[in-house]
Amino acid sequence: MIAANIDKIKQQINKDVQLIVVSKTRPIQMLIEAYNTGQIAFGENKVQELLLKNKLMPSNTQWHIIGHLQSNKVKQIAPFVHLIHSVDSIKLLNTINTEAIKNNRIINCLLQIFIADEETKFGLSKYEAEDLINSNAFDKLLNIKITGLMGMATNTNDEEKITNEFAGLKLFYDKLKQRQTHNFELSILSMGMSSDYMLAIKAGSNMIRVGSSIFA
Ligand SMILES: *Cc1c(COP(=O)(O)O)cnc(C)c1O
Repeated sequence: MIAANIDKIKQQINKDVQLIVVSKTRPIQMLIEAYNTGQIAFGENKVQELLLKNKLMPSNTQWHIIGHLQSNKVKQIAPFVHLIHSVDSIKLLNTINTEAIKNNRIINCLLQIFIADEETKFGLSKYEAEDLINSNAFDKLLNIKITGLMGMATNTNDEEKITNEFAGLKLFYDKLKQRQTHNFELSILSMGMSSDYMLAIKAGSNMIRVGSSIFA
């Protein structure tokens, strides 16, 4: 089932859209089943769970943090995390930078941009994001790189509303893409999950995070 579901999604999407299999809450056997199809990119939102799974998965597994990340949890994932999708403050970015230095690496991050009309979702407004990247504090960070943006649309059946939210993020992405510095160079637009990834891709997403339609 899992293999067939991954295959079906990969047939729907173009080669330049990357699939992140969201494996949060799923048992390790299911991740291995997905891995055996050739899938190496997995998304988790809890550090503790990610650490356990990292011990059990093959070493070339690429781990994506997709949920809200607390600063005090960064240390444990800094040695190996592939991409953090959910950066929403300079404080968190500072911590990631510090831990990246200790591990002698550069950690790639996405800024999570708030595009939905729901109050429960984390993220920066576009204004806050611009403020962050224009700050002196940001310029001093040498061991992180912002490689893209992540956003989640409102949880609704209104396709026009979802499309508008994704389109707004794509516009912002295109604007920021023109800027290139030592720690800022965008190539990833992470938007779309099980319910809306086709709409996201139509709006310009090149990275989708899909869980339930693979595992459910
Ligand atoms: C859980 C989650 C997903 C995947 O959602 P599905 O509906 O299961 O595909 C994608 N992105 C984030 C940030 C998530 O927390």
